[in-house]
Amino acid sequence: MTVFGCRSCGTTLTVPVSRVALPVHADQKYGNGPGSLPPALEPGTFAVDPLPSGPPWRRWADLGAGEIEALGWYAPRFRVSTGPVGRVLLTPGDVRGAIIAPALVDDSACCGLDSGEPNMVCVTCGTPVAARIDDCGLRQATWLDPLTTCVIYDAPGPHPMLDWADLIDQQPGVPPCEPGGGWNPMWAAAVASALAHLLAVSGGDPMMIPERQVAEVFQPVLDRLVGQVGPVGTGPGRTLVLAGPGLPDAAGDFALIPEHPQTGEPWPVAPPLKPVPLAWDAWRHLAFHVPPKPVGRSVPIPPEAPLALFPGYRFEPDGQIFLSVLARLPEVRQPRLRAIYDRGRPYSYSFYVF
Ligand SMILES: [Zn+2]
Ligand SMILES: [Zn+2]
Repeated sequence: MTVFGCRSCGTTLTVPVSRVALPVHADQKYGNGPGSLPPALEPGTFAVDPLPSGPPWRRWADLGAGEIEALGWYAPRFRVSTGPVGRVLLTPGDVRGAIIAPALVDDSACCGLDSGEPNMVCVTCGTPVAARIDDCGLRQATWLDPLTTCVIYDAPGPHPMLDWADLIDQQPGVPPCEPGGGWNPMWAAAVASALAHLLAVSGGDPMMIPERQVAEVFQPVLDRLVGQVGPVGTGPGRTLVLAGPGLPDAAGDFALIPEHPQTGEPWPVAPPLKPVPLAWDAWRHLAFHVPPKPVGRSVPIPPEAPLALFPGYRFEPDGQIFLSVLARLPEVRQPRLRAIYDRGRPYSYSFYVF
């Protein structure tokens, strides 16, 4: 377990928490409310952002080529963070000994808190230590500032490290649609990130997806971005399959593989299969969920019926996350991928089309 504290005075700032991998939806902005999105992490856990994040921000036009390369961006952004690495993400309920300071609250938010700058201070010494976020459409979160906080206690536990077999048993995945209808925002983020990695590794070739549940999620957007595979033998077309714990080896060119949710370690695959990482909760569902058979029907079920299990509108991966993940992959410099990237643009408050 790990406990974080104030770097200035040593005051304890968190309950004991266990480290997990930073999810791709950690700082997701999705929809426009009402209210904020659930935290990206389970209570009792924390994750560390290994990349520069938070303020200060620099406009793209003001950065030199060397600075851009050093920050790990490969396609233009409006502005990028040149903040510290190592910001710590927590669920807000795990924070202790810090309070929101009204004087530090950013008034650019809508109906909640949205700040890259710390807006919480240590109760003992008043040092700004964390940014609390809960504005509409944003993930509920508290981000500890690595410059003013530090680890004050570190020991194994309380959450044991799970192996892949434990994960299959204990973390059953998350369905793509929410009980009230609509797509789960985590899925929109997970698929957006996987899609960017798939384009990078495939160079933007059309793709065949034999597995039906995988195809329902990925095929429409892939066909739209890179075109459809022609009739057999008439054009390029490679195959995307699932690979991971508990699945038989599949033949294909690319494999959606899970990332370990605690360590971030990807499931290893043997060449020539090329891995495409997908968040555990989405991968686990795609790999093992058996869609329920409709019951009580007295008429034949048309072939398109399974789609009725999904909400009434088409699945769209999170455009903002797709573009930011793609911009961090060197392959985006390939002309075909750069053209896809350049078509992306903001469409509304929190919605990007691509
Ligand atoms: Zn609002
Ligand atoms: Zn303090």
